[in-house]
Amino acid sequence: MRAPPCATPGDRLSSSISTATDLLRTLVGFDTTSAKSNLALISFVEDFLKGHGIAATRVPSPDGAKADLFATIGPKGQGGIGLSGHSDCVPVEGQRWTSDPFTLTLRDGKLYGRGSCDMKGFIACVLASAPAFKARNLKEPIHIIVSYDEEVGCTGVRPLIARLGKDLPRPRAVIVGEPTSMAVIDAHKRIDAYRTRITGREAHSSMPELGVNAIAAAAALIGELARIGAGIAARDRDERFEPPHSTVFVSTIEGGIAHNIVPKNCEFQWQVRSLPEASPDEVPRDLAAFAEGELLPQMRRVTEEAAIDTANEGSVPAFVAAPGSEAVALALALTGADRTKAVSYTTEAGLFEEAGVPAVICGPGNIAHAHAPDEYVAVAQLEACLAFLDDLAARLA
Ligand SMILES: [Zn+2]
Repeated sequence: MRAPPCATPGDRLSSSISTATDLLRTLVGFDTTSAKSNLALISFVEDFLKGHGIAATRVPSPDGAKADLFATIGPKGQGGIGLSGHSDCVPVEGQRWTSDPFTLTLRDGKLYGRGSCDMKGFIACVLASAPAFKARNLKEPIHIIVSYDEEVGCTGVRPLIARLGKDLPRPRAVIVGEPTSMAVIDAHKRIDAYRTRITGREAHSSMPELGVNAIAAAAALIGELARIGAGIAARDRDERFEPPHSTVFVSTIEGGIAHNIVPKNCEFQWQVRSLPEASPDEVPRDLAAFAEGELLPQMRRVTEEAAIDTANEGSVPAFVAAPGSEAVALALALTGADRTKAVSYTTEAGLFEEAGVPAVICGPGNIAHAHAPDEYVAVAQLEACLAFLDDLAARLA
């Protein structure tokens, strides 16, 4: 792709929707499903920035198969505003798409493609704006942050965040451009993901009393999780969130080997999405109390080897912007919104905030269209984001 010409003083400095659309077409064309490498996309972004005289630093994943990217436009040093987006997207397998998910397709003012909304649309707007950022005489820097593996537990951005304030400049605020329809989000829930493994005892199905049925134990545990979840939902509420309580959810289950064998093994994955103020330990603790107090004593009457083990498979911290957050104040000023909102999905914002970098979530597209077949971002949303970025640059110039 040919790089667009740099804006010069006197030009209208805002970047065009056609440049952003062209960039989005290229970004969507890279299949950056989280399980795959994102290096082709990162190389493209690096080359695009280099073409506009902007140097970038790669932060490679431990196995070298993926990388984050960090680029600064404007004066060197600490401070400035970070614009952060993840390059990975969720899989398309099993989804019915009207058009090829990796070919950006315009229909009725909507740009369809995997990741168009979540969140390559934001990255395309940021890249399209980079030449205009460069042409401004920025008094404080704008940093472009592109991460990997957001969709699998926000793991990829963590090594980059660890370097902020060390060999990478620490922004004074970060805007995470997840799809919020350009609303200003200052809080989200937390996720804790778990896997519970049950070990029972095999037996011939004609004599089930000689075995310990691991699937039946899993069913009892899942029933208990539902009871625990209902108890929490009835007790702790925060009306800013939809739904206004923590949720407990079972996502996968696997067990048994044949219809005539009492199953020895079963395992299931589950997760808790907690309100920021909730204690994340409560659900696993209550489940363990049920397992040890009620279920295991029954199972161990048959075999001492019966076991129930629960392992945490990853957590994403909740996000709550600090009172008086300059990131939130900036996003409110740029959008003209008079209030903030809270959401139930998680993002990288909690990790930035936890590291002492004030964060806010604001980006183009509707989260309801993310992860779904026929994912799209409206052209009007990209235009709103370009105007937002243009305003940001004007404020920093
Ligand atoms: Zn996302």
